[in-house]
Amino acid sequence: TERTFSIIKPDATRRNLTGKVNAVIEDAGLRIVAQRRIQMTEDQAKKFYEVHAERPFYGELVEFMTSAPVVVQVLEGENAVARYREVMGATNPKDAAPGTIRALYAENVGENSVHGSDSQENARLEIAQFFTDADIV
Ligand code: ATP
Ligand code: MG
Repeated sequence: TERTFSIIKPDATRRNLTGKVNAVIEDAGLRIVAQRRIQMTEDQAKKFYEVHAERPFYGELVEFMTSAPVVVQVLEGENAVARYREVMGATNPKDAAPGTIRALYAENVGENSVHGSDSQENARLEIAQFFTDADIV
């Protein structure tokens, strides 16, 4: 069993979709083992998306992620990293497979409702940015 890090992004929390997103996550066999609603600071968002610092959309992305509260989560299950990427669907909702969170709920390539770690190593680093071991049960 494996863990991944998830964020329910501002476009989804704004539309009151936390429960609906969580239902898709749980129906996919992933267990929510830690969860907290937070208002991300600009520093937190910049650090979290540091790998994209040189991309043209970085400023817009940081602004979006701090525009409303988000829900940060740790998900656990078999092959959780890959499984959650499947459940989320493609970055651009236009390309996302039917039934995926992004196909169901994302508004566009930027405001795409969820984040999920793209590797086990990044999952560990991302979880550690928001949770301690004691938070995860
Ligand atoms: P995430 O990292 O959030 O799970 P991802 O791995 O599918 O999504 P990345 O390429 O890592 O996609 O991009 C990170 C985030 O940056 C995207 O989820 C989206 O919110 C935003 N983003 C990506 N591409 C664009 C774009 N062309 N225009 C605006 N925002 C974008
Ligand atoms: Mg990514």
